[in-house]
Amino acid sequence: MDGLTRKEFLAASGVAAGALWAGNALGVAGVGGPDPAEAAAAMQAAVASGSQDQFEKARGLIQSNWYLPVEDLDPGEMRISFLGSSFTARRAQAMNSVFIEVGTGQSFVFDLGSGTISQYTAMGIPSSRMTRVFLTHLHADHMSDLVALYCFGPAHDRKTPLHIYGPSGPILRGKEYTEQGTQAFCKNLLALCRWHSDAMSFLSTGLKATDTRPPVDGYEVVPHELRYRQNPGVAYSDGDVVIRHFPAAHDRDGSISYRLEFNGMSVVFSGDTKPTDWMYENAKGVDVLIHEMALSVNAWVNHLAGYYKKTDPLMYEQAYEQMAEVQANSHTPEKAFGECMAQCKPRLGVITHCHFNQDTFIPAITTVRQSYKGPLAWAVDGTVLNLKPGEAITQRQALTSDFAWDLTTKGYKPSEVADPKYHGPYAQFSAYTMRHILPGYKP
Ligand SMILES: [Zn+2]
Ligand SMILES: [Zn+2]
Repeated sequence: MDGLTRKEFLAASGVAAGALWAGNALGVAGVGGPDPAEAAAAMQAAVASGSQDQFEKARGLIQSNWYLPVEDLDPGEMRISFLGSSFTARRAQAMNSVFIEVGTGQSFVFDLGSGTISQYTAMGIPSSRMTRVFLTHLHADHMSDLVALYCFGPAHDRKTPLHIYGPSGPILRGKEYTEQGTQAFCKNLLALCRWHSDAMSFLSTGLKATDTRPPVDGYEVVPHELRYRQNPGVAYSDGDVVIRHFPAAHDRDGSISYRLEFNGMSVVFSGDTKPTDWMYENAKGVDVLIHEMALSVNAWVNHLAGYYKKTDPLMYEQAYEQMAEVQANSHTPEKAFGECMAQCKPRLGVITHCHFNQDTFIPAITTVRQSYKGPLAWAVDGTVLNLKPGEAITQRQALTSDFAWDLTTKGYKPSEVADPKYHGPYAQFSAYTMRHILPGYKP
């Protein structure tokens, strides 16, 4: 296994199985870049022969096409990884999540829908690097894996509070629905997970006080509720990175989009939205504009209920009407996506929140291309973009294992770690249960 680290080897062994690839005849930087079969074959040959030269050749092929989750960033570099790229959880595409890391060490999670935690695990991203989560809105496809992140972080390597950023509750006809805002959401998340957090508290879940701060606990949540009407407001700022938010229009008031700036580079993540002039204003000239796109109503309905077109036309029609309504109320159709990109002129436009299928790809891109001719990518889970000022944006597909473990990468000195809330293996069992664990038990 000369010339290849163990991690690279394990990652590379998943090349053939994990690859999703589409050609780029329509000017889309393909999903996965050039043909992965060549890289996979080269790696298999290298493994079989054990030849150093062949490993180098395979590594070259893989590194130009594929991202291995072992790379460091240059200090001025930014990496954007897609850990969920749809709105239903399916095996190839989890619900929505984007992970942005910068060369100065900070990392940010944007949205965290169902299925995305397993993609973070596959990418080797530990809880300790997922301490700040920015929610665009509180639809479940953007927040439903928060339960897993919150609950298991303290048992892994996040012994500090989870910071959750998100919009304030909607203001409709003069009334503010505070119970629908991020602050209330966080309070309810804690309540929902109370059995879990107490049950796990036989482990140490926090850190002792230091000279500069009081004790902290991984089961604390710090809500950062952002006034959704601010255009823009500042959600986060640390000297290297600024994250702004601005309003989005999706179903009802109370959704936002984010814009992250680092080292002269900028990324906008739309979350879910209809096209708005807020977007045009805030995303004009950004490096990367990650924007939701809704497939045509026909494509949606044919996948969802095409079977019923002949056998039950009424059901088909109902499905059609419902999908048409979802699209009108909530999303950016293909044509509008193209127009938005044409207005904003990003260095790279990225489609997300969208099912990628062979039969949907060409019609959708053809429609987008009617108005937008610039650089375009269609994100699927594992799409990775690297950005450096003044250099071309690279797009690769991550090579990961379906059997990866959830890494812990941050260590704590025993003297730093707080005492567990409950001591010993039996501290949370009643005498009733103890009698069933230890025969003859007497309290
Ligand atoms: Zn959504
Ligand atoms: Zn939504």
